Amino acid sequence: MNIKTMPLGPLQTNCYIVYTDESAIIFDPGGDGEKLVSWLQEVNVTPVAILLTHAHFDHIGAIDYLKEYFQIPVYVHEAEAEWLEDPQKNGSGLFPVGEIKTSQGPDNYIKTGSTTVDGFTFEVRHTPGHSPGGVIFIFHEERYIIGGDSLFQLGIGRTDLPGGDHQQLIDSINNEMFSLADDFTVYPGHGDRTTIGFEKKENPFLN
Ligand SMILES: [Zn+2]
Ligand SMILES: [Zn+2]
Repeated sequence: MNIKTMPLGPLQTNCYIVYTDESAIIFDPGGDGEKLVSWLQEVNVTPVAILLTHAHFDHIGAIDYLKEYFQIPVYVHEAEAEWLEDPQKNGSGLFPVGEIKTSQGPDNYIKTGSTTVDGFTFEVRHTPGHSPGGVIFIFHEERYIIGGDSLFQLGIGRTDLPGGDHQQLIDSINNEMFSLADDFTVYPGHGDRTTIGFEKKENPFLN
């Protein structure tokens, strides 16, 4: 299973595409739908679903475009079920980026635990703090995590947006992420990838 990083949208949020020879899951498509589609066509894989680490505006901007193009479902944690269509909740109304929203709500809720979506198997853990419905996706066999805006290289997510909670974020990282082995790679929503071991040792917000 391969993973492709593609910074997209107004904040160049990392979109991740996890893919096989045939199909793909798209995580956090922040914008620039055409760019994403042309890459998918280049490598000749068909996306089967859009999964969100959380529903902030900078992670959702290409959803309408992709849904229209591929007719694929969107998954988000139930705690952010209403955020996709609501610029106040998803934060775009609080930033000078213009209103960013989707025309419909999610098709499915993300459940925690081990899960299979169209042949892709991974574990979901709920990691609130940056936002109430934040989740991480753990690919145990491949030893990587799609971590959203919880843990960054030498940083953590902001907690001043609606529903944010600093202590809850610290607890989520300690309990749900740092319980994974040191060699797990973390693919964050912004910036470069890192590892659990490096952040345990070096991250100034968690020591
Ligand atoms: Zn966010
Ligand atoms: Zn973000």
